[in-house]
Amino acid sequence: MKLFIPDVAYIDPRSEKYPLGKTIVENLQRLNVPIINSKKVQIEGKSPGENYAKAKRTIYITVNGEKKLKSCKPSANYQFALSSSCPGSCEYCYLQTTQGEKPFMKIFVNIEDILNVIQQHIEDNSPNVTEFECGSITDPIALEHLTGSLKRCIEFFSNSKNGRLRVITKFDNVDSFLDINHNKHTKFRFSINTPYVIDKFEHNTSSFQERVEAARKISEAGYPLGFIIAPIMLYDNWKNDYKTLMATLKSEISNYKDTISFELIQHRFTATAKDLILTRFPNTKLDLNEENRQLKWGPYGKFKYVYPKEKSLEIKNYITELINDSFSNSIIEYFT
Ligand code: SF4
Repeated sequence: MKLFIPDVAYIDPRSEKYPLGKTIVENLQRLNVPIINSKKVQIEGKSPGENYAKAKRTIYITVNGEKKLKSCKPSANYQFALSSSCPGSCEYCYLQTTQGEKPFMKIFVNIEDILNVIQQHIEDNSPNVTEFECGSITDPIALEHLTGSLKRCIEFFSNSKNGRLRVITKFDNVDSFLDINHNKHTKFRFSINTPYVIDKFEHNTSSFQERVEAARKISEAGYPLGFIIAPIMLYDNWKNDYKTLMATLKSEISNYKDTISFELIQHRFTATAKDLILTRFPNTKLDLNEENRQLKWGPYGKFKYVYPKEKSLEIKNYITELINDSFSNSIIEYFT
């Protein structure tokens, strides 16, 4: 897809002393992006919807002072961030409720500090292998053309005896990762869905075909590979569409012999998320009708609305069968 170019970039004066800060500024200048030196990002829209839209076109170049990484169970031991938020506007995004009214993107330039913190966590857990997730509060590929940070991380983990990296993305900008020595220490997981869901709800992200193509390239480059099918939605023709999705994956990734993991997540929402989604996307076609759902207690101390038990079981069994029929080398890590 066309690479994201922000409308405006703010630069925290602290980031100027880092080499990556300088590189990003040069990249932005080449793209004619207006750059403002400031400790604060100014976004003054006339409505919450406008604030959201403007924020998704704004980046803030700054530093990450995190010394103690958060746990990231069950997918990894810890999470770290090269950036926060992303240029995508997925209507159901679980970050809607955690990144405030103006979810502008932060890009962290002190990459070597971040890697030092990671190294410390690896050593503290030695001789065990320690896994790190870098996509918990961002899409780690969406801003890579401006930063090159993920490539640096893949190279770091390639040389790490006990550190492993997990990447999750809805973007297809993977070419810079194909020729580097990754040592199979980085696993790519592509968030995938039917073209109907992607086109209707995942605005400003790569299309279905683009993601499949990116997954094929990554598989041919020998990286560990997985797919997250999420959020799985029920709509007219959902069974046919997920069947076609799996048939396409099967034909595109047929030469990959290593294990392919699948993570399956049904669509869910909280009451807070529903309010926010309706403010930002008043014409949304998302099914947010509580009457069609059942309540489930979530790990973050909130009730969420999921499909009723029999529907949920139908989804689980159907998608599991599709995966098992398509890939003898698949493993389903979880359905939730
Ligand atoms: S790409 Fe991921 S992080 Fe970005 S809006 Fe979509 S779901 Fe959220």
